[in-house]
Amino acid sequence: MLTQGWPWGVPDLDIRQLIDSVARSEDRVVKALCDMLKVKAVGPENGGAGEGERGEFLLDLAKGMGFDSVELYESGDPRVPSGRRPNIVVRVRGTSDRNVWVVTHMDIVPEGDLDAWNSPPYEPRVENGRVYARGAEDNGQDLIASLFGLEALVRAGVRPEANVGLAFVSDEEYGNTHGIDVLINKGIFREGDLIVVPDHGYPDGSKIAVVEKSVAWVRVVVIGKQTHASTPDNGVNAFETAARYLAACMDRLREKFSASDDLFDPPGSTFVPSRCEANGKNINTVPGRQEFACDFRVLPEYPLDDVLAEMRKIATKVEEASGAKIEVSFIDRAPSAGRTSPDSEVVRRLSKAISEVGGFTPDAIGIGGATCASPFRRIGLDAAAWSMIPGTGHDANEYIEISGLMFDAKVYAVLFAGDNVSRPQPATP
Ligand SMILES: [Zn+2]
Repeated sequence: MLTQGWPWGVPDLDIRQLIDSVARSEDRVVKALCDMLKVKAVGPENGGAGEGERGEFLLDLAKGMGFDSVELYESGDPRVPSGRRPNIVVRVRGTSDRNVWVVTHMDIVPEGDLDAWNSPPYEPRVENGRVYARGAEDNGQDLIASLFGLEALVRAGVRPEANVGLAFVSDEEYGNTHGIDVLINKGIFREGDLIVVPDHGYPDGSKIAVVEKSVAWVRVVVIGKQTHASTPDNGVNAFETAARYLAACMDRLREKFSASDDLFDPPGSTFVPSRCEANGKNINTVPGRQEFACDFRVLPEYPLDDVLAEMRKIATKVEEASGAKIEVSFIDRAPSAGRTSPDSEVVRRLSKAISEVGGFTPDAIGIGGATCASPFRRIGLDAAAWSMIPGTGHDANEYIEISGLMFDAKVYAVLFAGDNVSRPQPATP
């Protein structure tokens, strides 16, 4: 069906031709990715100027691609020189009333230790089928892949089946306040919209993340009484108490919150003591204060408050036995935003596109880290986190495989096209 305003004639394209047309755009796709990655987009939390310049670049690029509309939604932020953080929404109308979104982020984390890089992080290097640069994977690859996947339909004159929206957002690395939240508050996303968030993935593209564990960072401070190490009974050893408390806690938490769910790998909750603060310089002192922190990834069915309550219970027992005082608190927490069903329409459509391009069927999984699928699940939208990426985001020498970049662009083209391209039936003998 042809809708008004679509100037490219009636197509009769099959899926192979569509995939081939994406493949033929490889040089332009790689060039666009490299050009974008030259433009820094570090947020103000890390002393950066924000996404303004990268936003300008993407507006120019998208406006030249023949989409129905390219809109800018800004969020005021006095911490960046321009005073504004950009969010870009690209739309192409479809022939059904469903809406499919691919949401990617423009912001990047800083390069970190420059000496660890083999080439300058903001001068993208193409070598052996890879593109090396800060932000190549996180989230450059799929931002560009979504753009060129959609462009392939425009060039071929195929209307997407669902209305397609691409959102390029700011502020993903620091909480979405100036990004996804702005678009959500403006009512850009509607009930029933299908959301793909390519901010997580695997090198073979074989897994679609549909649920996340809750994440909690917990601080423990043990206050004892400092004294000379030759007369320990005159003090209360905060270090030793912390060690006893930690051992008791870990045993109890692993026992009490022991449920297991095979959607996740590892299948159970994880309780990891991670950072231990220095407690003093000399060896001949009984330390009076010991502080440490833990990283917990908890299955969605367990409220994080229950975990903390259990830690406080054990703290009371250890306090009574030791005479020390134990403070337990959250440093940060991100409760799971719930599940997108593996049978939901977004997962089914995405799986179909992946299998038509790649010849394999992806698995739905749960993951231990938080992605920006959460804000969508929290407002009741189904969101699938997927991409074919090597897993180098935030690393020195971050890179992507051009084969993964092109695979994802093809998947988006097929996902968007839906039933508006034909599928040749295998010849009958
Ligand atoms: Zn990211």
